[in-house]
Amino acid sequence: MSFFNDFSQTFSQISKSATGKVKDMSSVSKINKEIEESTNELNNLLNMLGRKYYEKFASSPDPEMADICLSISDLCGKINTLQAEADSIKANAYCPACGEKVAPGDAFCANCGHKLIV
Ligand SMILES: [Zn+2]
Repeated sequence: MSFFNDFSQTFSQISKSATGKVKDMSSVSKINKEIEESTNELNNLLNMLGRKYYEKFASSPDPEMADICLSISDLCGKINTLQAEADSIKANAYCPACGEKVAPGDAFCANCGHKLIV
C-alpha cells in the first residue's frame, strides 16, 4: 500500500513540476515576444533619431558623427546612380526575339508577343 501511496505522490509531484515547466515556458515565450516588440520599437526610434539627425546636421555634423554622415551621403549618391542606371536600362530595352524596342515594365513584346519578364 505504501508503494502505491509513494507512487501516486511522486507522480503528482512530477505532474505539478511538468505543469510548472509548461507555465514557465509559456511565460518565457510571452516575455520573449515582448522583448522582440520592444526591440523593434527601439530600433524604429533609433532609426528615426538617426534620420532626423542626418537631415538636420549632415551639412555640419558633430566631429564624432562626421564619418557616419559622409558614409550616408556616399550611399545615397550610390543608390541614386544605380537607380538612374536601372531606369536607363528599362527605358532602352529591346525584345531579345525580334529586336523591337519595348516599353519599361512590359511583360510581353508588343510586336511579336515574346515573354519579356521571367
Ligand atoms: Zn519581340
